[in-house]
Amino acid sequence: MMADLSCSHLEMITTVKHAKRRECEECVKIGALWVHLRTCQECGKTLCCDSSPNRHASRHAGASGHPVIASAEPGESWLYCYPDDAFAEY
Ligand SMILES: [Zn+2]
Ligand SMILES: [Zn+2]
Ligand SMILES: [Zn+2]
Repeated sequence: MMADLSCSHLEMITTVKHAKRRECEECVKIGALWVHLRTCQECGKTLCCDSSPNRHASRHAGASGHPVIASAEPGESWLYCYPDDAFAEY
């Protein structure tokens, strides 16, 4: 993995969690739409990105303290750490 060494969270990830379902768990509950999906690497929740109206992934990161998400979009293989604003491809 090409981890950004300034981020200790990305370094700790050895196995990437993938989305169990191709939908935002929170948007589904409220009948909202999303743009892209991200999967929390701490608890495996799949939530929507910052381009989506409800930005559930960043809200989850802020509320839970879970720092790292992975893109859940087909063909994308990258991780992002919110507190360090760090990207890594895998
Ligand atoms: Zn980090
Ligand atoms: Zn959402
Ligand atoms: Zn989480």
